[in-house]
Amino acid sequence: MSQGKDEGKLEDLYLITLRNGPFAHESFSPSEDLLNFLWNECKVLVVGAGGLGCELLKDLALSGFRNIEVIDLDVVDVTNLNRQFLFRQQDVGKPKAEVAAAFIAKRISGINIKGHHANIYDQPREFYKQFNLVVAGLDSIDARRWLNETLIDLVETNDDGTIDVSTVIPLIDGGTEGFRGQARVIIPKMSACFECNLDLFPPQISYPLCTIANTPRLPEHCIEYASVILWPQQQPFGAGTKVDGDNPEHVKWIFERAQERANQFHIQGVTYRLSQGVIKHIIPAVASTNAIVAASCANEAFKLATYIANPLNNYMLYNGESGVYTYAFETERREECPACGRAQPKKICVSPKWTLADLIEVLREDTELRVKSPSLTVSSRALYYSSPASLEQATKENLPQSLDCLLEEGCEIFLTDPALPLGRKLQIFFHKCSKKNK
Ligand SMILES: [Zn+2]
Repeated sequence: MSQGKDEGKLEDLYLITLRNGPFAHESFSPSEDLLNFLWNECKVLVVGAGGLGCELLKDLALSGFRNIEVIDLDVVDVTNLNRQFLFRQQDVGKPKAEVAAAFIAKRISGINIKGHHANIYDQPREFYKQFNLVVAGLDSIDARRWLNETLIDLVETNDDGTIDVSTVIPLIDGGTEGFRGQARVIIPKMSACFECNLDLFPPQISYPLCTIANTPRLPEHCIEYASVILWPQQQPFGAGTKVDGDNPEHVKWIFERAQERANQFHIQGVTYRLSQGVIKHIIPAVASTNAIVAASCANEAFKLATYIANPLNNYMLYNGESGVYTYAFETERREECPACGRAQPKKICVSPKWTLADLIEVLREDTELRVKSPSLTVSSRALYYSSPASLEQATKENLPQSLDCLLEEGCEIFLTDPALPLGRKLQIFFHKCSKKNK
């Protein structure tokens, strides 16, 4: 066990792992082995080194986890510095995962921490397999869905059909949105997964057009009015130019028009920052929410690694918008969950005269599938591949073909998408009056 100057910091770890307690898990037995496991064996992957990730790395490292890896594709931006406290001015432009890992390594002696400046989608299964726990601090729903399915895909079954628990890697998922956040514990194939309750995350905030056009009440309505109605009418940056949330001139134009509209309707609160947020559909990050959610996630990681207490079952929500509110409840597993359950093929009703391109458009608009660039195969024959470019070239001639030329009534097609490692089965039914919901 570790000796030396960090000894004092570890005193509490001894207290809670060497004595029994009223909240201990039924499998808990006080022992030095627990800390040995935590220090020498337990490997944790932190996904994301942003607002939540920085907090998570600090919390996990100070809770006694010694073998940590962190993965993030981003580089440090100057706007991160107010809350992503492992980064300094001189780190701007450098990979977040590497800078964060180096910072933690410098501050906590004896830790074995590694940063990967990489895309989670590009890592092989073996990469994820080596960890005992995965803790996610991601802001993208797509990435969280992908991670959830990847860990479900790693679960193996024994010969008698039961789950091989040695292949189950718990996922602790943190998420924040402004003053609201949540932490959850997902035991793949055993408790509710991210996909089971995907409807907790509405597809995307959008405001009814009639409200925007006629009865604005919120500053967001005024900003949407400027970007959705005025922009196409006035084409301020030349015909056909789309609004770019990263172009300060575009944001400024929308901000100023939105302000005029807000003044007209006596609405307060239109700012440049909010304008950018609405255009890019981002909600500003709040440091305190990140800290609270990350602390909860690190606490769950510690409980799962040592059994000192029962893990969260299985969802904690936090709301700091008006006062402080927190509540824990159990989300239920969905039997027909397409990721962790026994989903039947999703029935899709189409007109035989639709083209394949029409079908793909409908699939992309489907609020349950939520896919962006689907590829389709039917009994291992390619219908359409959205990537790579060479396969797209080879299959795009199918796009204008009508479905009755390509498919048979009742056939099953298999959909793959970068967001869904497990893919989805669809069953196609022909119906003459099927309308595209446009
Ligand atoms: Zn599920």
